[in-house]
Amino acid sequence: MDLSVFLGAPGSGKGTQAKRLAQTYGFHHFSTGDMLRSAIVGNTPVGISAKKFMDNGELVPDEVMIRLIEGALSPLKPSSKILLDGFPRTVPQAEALDKQAHTQVRQAIFFQIPESVLISRLTGRRTCQKCGEPYHVLFLPPQKENVCDRCGGPLIQRSDDKEEVVGRRLQVFNQQNAALLDYYRAKNKLSQCDANQSVDAIYQKLLEWL
Ligand code: AMP
Repeated sequence: MDLSVFLGAPGSGKGTQAKRLAQTYGFHHFSTGDMLRSAIVGNTPVGISAKKFMDNGELVPDEVMIRLIEGALSPLKPSSKILLDGFPRTVPQAEALDKQAHTQVRQAIFFQIPESVLISRLTGRRTCQKCGEPYHVLFLPPQKENVCDRCGGPLIQRSDDKEEVVGRRLQVFNQQNAALLDYYRAKNKLSQCDANQSVDAIYQKLLEWL
């Protein structure tokens, strides 16, 4: 399996790009954040144990995340092209991914962006409750307030995008990120993308790399 991982702070635009690439080019897109939010809605054991970490802006333990991603990847065909968005977030997760049978991490793309930009991106972010389409109250507003342009579903704010949790999420990201970048740099697999540009400009750059 040909795997690319998207690294970057919450709000750096990984999910927006990965969703678009999946819709247009048929990549299998796995967002571990979305998988956990579905598990919470479904009240599964993973969801129940993950919720308290997510509500506080903390990482869900590595062993839970590694099992989750292994379960998602194992049924896929060897010819699959995969984008991982939000995994790995720690070096042990990256090591576990490299140990997975039949998977080959081809590249890690780091979405680089100043922290000051992230706060407004995160607190203004809205998502369609039905189809997951991302919006932003200032930078990417829907045509009709709080209604998804794509499917007409209601737009909601993630509970962890509220200002009081955002700071902790960024702190947690900064604690793990340098080591993760070093991990992929040492393997010569790291590319850095200037994520403080328009969605279209970043998309064009990614198409050159993928
Ligand atoms: P995200 O939607 O990627 O911002 O993820 C939302 C939350 O889910 C994070 O703040 C973590 O609590 C949890 N989460 C998602 N992916 C991971 C991961 N790979 N490792 C640990 N926790 C994760």
